[in-house]
Amino acid sequence: LTLENNCIVIFGASGDLTQRMLIPALYKLYSHQKLSSSFAILGVSRSTYDDQSFRDKLIKDLASDDNVDHESLDKFCEHLFYQVMDPENKYEYKALKQRIQSIETALKIKSNTLFYLATPPSLYSVIPQNLAAHGLNIEDDGWKRLVIEKPFGYDLESAIALDKSLYQDFTEDQIYRIDHYLGKETVQNMLVLRFANSIFEPLWNSKYIDYIEVTGAEDLGIGSRGGYYDNAGAMRDMIQNHLLQVIAMVAMEPPAVINADSMRDEVVKVLQCLKPLNEDDLKHNLVLGQYTKSHVRDECLLSYREEKGVPEDSRTETYIALKMFIKNWRWDGVPFYVRTAKRMPTRVTEVVINFKKTPHPVFSANPPDNKLIMRIQPDEGTLLSFGLKKPGAGFETEPVAMDFHYSNLKNSELLSAYERLLLDVLKGDATLFSRSDAVSACWEFVQPILDYKKNKFDLYGYAAGTWGPIEAEALFKNGQTWRSPCKNLTDTDYC
Ligand code: NAP
Repeated sequence: LTLENNCIVIFGASGDLTQRMLIPALYKLYSHQKLSSSFAILGVSRSTYDDQSFRDKLIKDLASDDNVDHESLDKFCEHLFYQVMDPENKYEYKALKQRIQSIETALKIKSNTLFYLATPPSLYSVIPQNLAAHGLNIEDDGWKRLVIEKPFGYDLESAIALDKSLYQDFTEDQIYRIDHYLGKETVQNMLVLRFANSIFEPLWNSKYIDYIEVTGAEDLGIGSRGGYYDNAGAMRDMIQNHLLQVIAMVAMEPPAVINADSMRDEVVKVLQCLKPLNEDDLKHNLVLGQYTKSHVRDECLLSYREEKGVPEDSRTETYIALKMFIKNWRWDGVPFYVRTAKRMPTRVTEVVINFKKTPHPVFSANPPDNKLIMRIQPDEGTLLSFGLKKPGAGFETEPVAMDFHYSNLKNSELLSAYERLLLDVLKGDATLFSRSDAVSACWEFVQPILDYKKNKFDLYGYAAGTWGPIEAEALFKNGQTWRSPCKNLTDTDYC
């Protein structure tokens, strides 16, 4: 797919996402000559800047990097523009349209426009409606695309309502729902590992796999995002979107070809096979927790309820562990254990495929673990652990590992998720973007948990710096358990 000249209009241009993610990603693409020969980035928000002060603000962090090429950064800045406007005010879109046209004329850009909504989600319906009212959705003279950031809705009902509103003026082909997890090299690598090799796929089913773990652990607390996080919780923040997408990549059937339709058809099929959570699951297969105060390496870590912006009686979960199943031929009876939390002992996102033990152990009563660990972040890579003979007399086995790290590859500079996804959307490749039916399938699966939380429910404490409430151990049976990449950082009892 070729990259045509284009104008990127970022709503919410004065915000955190634009500053920390979008502009650095666009600059990196520019400096690697991956953007089109002519392009413009027009930032839009209510804060008062002009082109120059907007450029100064945005490149401050980039310019302080010792390795940056200042000449190339200055040239990049010539592509940055700013327009003060209130996106809620439909009358201000006339001036926006004129500004886009004048930039396009000055830079000889064809009328291809990407509208990036980096605003609060409350504007996700308003902005597209206002764009359409001024014909900015019409593709007569070039493409018009819309990028939406998560959250795509707050629950199933609001997600459906959001789609309905978007479809009034834009088609599904024009809408790119960004889930930055899908932009991660290591998430995409799961597909290559599975479908480019013949050695894993024959074992990738309930006959050989005992259980699968998916962990998305953060060592940090919620920082300054208390207001946002307390409304979202771990469920909405991580499970509904990122981790269910990861599960889809692990569990989907091979697509016939790698393109947007084929890939996303398979993703939806597997998400629609998630076994709906019933009352019994909510009682026995779900554990919700919240971090409590503790001491780690001489540092006193606040409890969640003491964090800025969090009500002191908050019952928002910062930990969630869930045992779930996929009802299809491949995965019948294989438990998927999913957990995510703040304030765990380390930051790690990984998938662990735990293979079944040999049917008849001939060397010892306790055969070695066979695990395939796919590390999504940090230290991206893949590790296969198995047993070999311990040197010496007899036939004792010893665990060994084949461990691949992306960092060992030559030319292994990975594209960041935003670089990859921005490039894809500019090319019109929607393969790694969430389709409407996949988003709905995820909400449908998690809605019973949201409903469950509306009533009285058990919320367990865990000391900050530990692997979560011990109650989560009860999810397991027959010797299955979480892999713990490191020990708890504190001995403090949970309270
Ligand atoms: P932010 O720092 O609060 O910025 C929000 C932007 O929207 C600002 O530019 C603000 O500009 C504008 N805005 C705020 N309220 C507005 C209103 N009522 N009407 C019009 N404009 C308004 O938020 P952010 O962190 O950049 O996040 C933006 C979106 O991306 C959110 O939906 C968030 O959930 C999503 N997201 C963010 C991250 C991240 O790392 N930051 C990651 C994933 C997803 P003015 O006040 O100047 O108009």
